[in-house]
Amino acid sequence: MIIEKQISGFNPIVFTDYVNIYISKDATAREKKVLRKHAKAHIYLNHRIRYKAYEREFGKVDRKTWCLAEDIEIALHIYNKEDEEVALLPRSNISGGIYKHNLPKDLPKELKYCEEIYKFLLTIIENTSKYESFEASYKTDLGLGLDIDVDVDEDLDVEVLIKKTIEELGREAVAEEKKNKREKNEEKSFEKLKRRKQTLTSLLERKVKKNYALKRKNTYLRQSRRCEGGNEGGIIKKGVRITRKIPKVLVFVDRSGSFCTEKTEEATKNLDGVLKKFRLAIKKEVYFFNNKILEEDPLVGAGGTNYKAVRNLIANSGAEIAVVITDDDMCEDLEKVTTDVIVIPIGCNETFFAKKILAEEVRLSI
Ligand SMILES: [Zn+2]
Repeated sequence: MIIEKQISGFNPIVFTDYVNIYISKDATAREKKVLRKHAKAHIYLNHRIRYKAYEREFGKVDRKTWCLAEDIEIALHIYNKEDEEVALLPRSNISGGIYKHNLPKDLPKELKYCEEIYKFLLTIIENTSKYESFEASYKTDLGLGLDIDVDVDEDLDVEVLIKKTIEELGREAVAEEKKNKREKNEEKSFEKLKRRKQTLTSLLERKVKKNYALKRKNTYLRQSRRCEGGNEGGIIKKGVRITRKIPKVLVFVDRSGSFCTEKTEEATKNLDGVLKKFRLAIKKEVYFFNNKILEEDPLVGAGGTNYKAVRNLIANSGAEIAVVITDDDMCEDLEKVTTDVIVIPIGCNETFFAKKILAEEVRLSI
């Protein structure tokens, strides 16, 4: 898996060590898309292995020219119209790269691949100075990662490589788009939840009411007053009995290392005060959590924060409501739950956990 790391500024704006990619955080979102494609293309097109193979066959390679040839190959095969347009926008930060619209003008049309392009560039080397690969601005170590020894596959079919690269980048672009959309929607839903001003009492009241369902049950314990076949020895029908379904409320108290136990004390006390008002209307279960879920209060904070375990217990408990007292520890993506989750943030305004599980957050001013 390729890891994307951030760099700052525009010099360079992108580079790769052929394992991970480095992209300037100062580029615009559209530019980053092109740069991501560019850096990944170097990896998928096996440019490092091809460099090694070329070096093995022809001896020492001029890195600056080789990197330029790599970028020309990417311009010829990988960029689409949209990428070219981003580079042509006024004040574009990526206009310095090589594209179809600014290829070295003597470049013969029949040259398609990095190796043959490199060979040609050597013949016009005194004229190549005005062309630079993106990576050329990374002056300290041009072709970072080219020194590492790699196995050279003699049978690399460049044409197949290019086809595969285009397919892979296409798949990744679709996945990226989906992820962005999902994150945007999550952000929107979360903003909507946040806009509602409420206290813990009013919020719990609303949740308890919503889940305090009346259940109708047919039973002989209460016989029907109506008899089938009249009143003489007919069949007695079941009566209807109304029972209440008491909502189950799970309370989770963070006891991870980052968590300040004194700070939670006030929150737990407040929460207890509020829950007392509902004591006849709910069933309550209290848990503590750090790396795992604990039934007893360890009294001190230690270890990591296993939000996934909290999420899974909520999902599997059949509880209608869950209240989580936690801080702003990082939280991975979590699958949503049908349970109503309320988060009480401690020492912060909002928590990653609430955002990921789409919970309503309420600060303690009961
Ligand atoms: Zn490049």
